[in-house]
Amino acid sequence: MILIAGAGPAGLTLAIDLARRGVPHRLVDPGHPSGSRGKGLQPRTLEVLDDLGVIDAILTAGAPYPPLRAYAGTDVVWEGRMHEPVPPTPDVPYPNVLMVPQWRTEQILRDRLTALGGRVDPVGLASFTQSDDGVSAVLTDGTTVRADYLVGCDGGRSTVRKTLGVPFLGETRDEERMLIGDVQTPDLDRDHWHMWADLQTRTPGVGLCPLPGTSDFQFTAPLAPGDDPDLTLATYRKHLAAGTGRDDIRLTGLGWASVYRVNIRMAERFRVGRVFLAGDAAHVHSPAGGQGLNTGVQDAYNLGWKLAAGSPSLLDTYEEERLPVAAGVLGISTALYQKATEGQADAHKRGEETQQLLLAYPDSPLSSGPSGGTRAPDAPLADGTTLFDAFRGPHFTLLAFNTPAPTCGLTVRTVEITANPAAEAAYGITAPALVLVRPDGYRAHTGDPTSTRTYLTRLNLL
Ligand SMILES: Cc1cc2nc3c(=O)[nH]c(=O)nc-3n(C[C@H](O)[C@H](O)[C@H](O)COP(=O)(O)OP(=O)(O)OC[C@H]3O[C@@H](n4cnc5c(N)ncnc54)[C@H](O)[C@@H]3O)c2cc1C
Repeated sequence: MILIAGAGPAGLTLAIDLARRGVPHRLVDPGHPSGSRGKGLQPRTLEVLDDLGVIDAILTAGAPYPPLRAYAGTDVVWEGRMHEPVPPTPDVPYPNVLMVPQWRTEQILRDRLTALGGRVDPVGLASFTQSDDGVSAVLTDGTTVRADYLVGCDGGRSTVRKTLGVPFLGETRDEERMLIGDVQTPDLDRDHWHMWADLQTRTPGVGLCPLPGTSDFQFTAPLAPGDDPDLTLATYRKHLAAGTGRDDIRLTGLGWASVYRVNIRMAERFRVGRVFLAGDAAHVHSPAGGQGLNTGVQDAYNLGWKLAAGSPSLLDTYEEERLPVAAGVLGISTALYQKATEGQADAHKRGEETQQLLLAYPDSPLSSGPSGGTRAPDAPLADGTTLFDAFRGPHFTLLAFNTPAPTCGLTVRTVEITANPAAEAAYGITAPALVLVRPDGYRAHTGDPTSTRTYLTRLNLL
């Protein structure tokens, strides 16, 4: 049994992945007010959500990022986009970041978990101990749970990480705080992300971003050092008036409300014995670049199939693969945040570095052959389906390019691809070859039948 502490995006993703594999697990979370906070779903995360069976609900709930509109008082002084939208291609079906309020993403994931027969237990993890053969956890209702593994998806203040004594290295920028919340106003259009910046220094001030599928705007305003406000509608009105110099924008409602302190930290280890850390429990980011939720979802997605297989050497690869990725992503979000605080002219621009499509595990012991560890792209197949259709589900996929597919075990689906220039181009195939794709959509091995057989044997897949 796998015990998961925390049902934010990371914990829910892991629970869904385990539930669809029929792996016994328990997901506990005492509950938290979840607002719009992580509202940007990156292209790679959309691919993960496709595999988990929720992409239609997510696409329906979301919308493209609106253009930014900057004001000086009532005057519009600048308009621009964070992301230039691009059309889908055969290998990248979801090329644009999608805006979905985080509470809605969590609701969709919870619904999927329920449909798979899972649920969130409304209780917290209080403490735990581990030995060579298991984890013994005490929950906040006083009950004890025995588990094979524990996964701490319990956010930046993680009880699991603290109990393990794993250092959370990095910095907290106490002086850089932001008032944030979900507010309502009838006085702004919902087609723009409205912002009031200091034009001299180009530093951001008040922002109001319309949240798709709701009547809310996400409100953000920098807080001066020492300002420790009450989280009431009156406070938000005061900051709006001070930051915009306007009295014609009425705030008529306040939902989720919070103060956000910039934390840039990473756990020194993502695994200690039978206990793993994922999501914000393992790394916290500045909000710039919208990386936090996305990286956590992909931590969980990397871990799910390895926990299901239960092989110690496979489980070792979780930290080997995800720790360098988290470090790289932290570097990207910190650099973007720095640009914004320094008021650089292109600070609002986002490119392919934030989309997470290029994240790869080239140095992983699981990566073998050309392009080992890189994302397995989509491509059209002769029968009108796509490779992503073939990948969807908890199995490995063996792509046989212009060669017969060998017989494999039940956990490998084989797809024969003959004379398909689009797929060959996407995978860089110039001669008959076998490509083994991991359950989490990365290329494990590319080679001939003999080397592939050796690889499959190593992973017990024949
Ligand atoms: C202002 C702001 C803007 C952001 N913008 C973005 C963005 O655009 N894109 C993006 O990707 N990310 C963004 N983020 C970050 C994103 O919100 C987080 O990275 C994300 O919520 C992390 O998910 P998680 O599942 O790891 O943890 P969390 O969402 O923090 O969930 C942790 C869960 O653990 C539970 N828990 C805590 N303690 C225990 C315990 N002892 N036992 C059991 N359960 C426990 C909590 O109740 C909570 O439900 C933003 C964050 C903020 C604050």
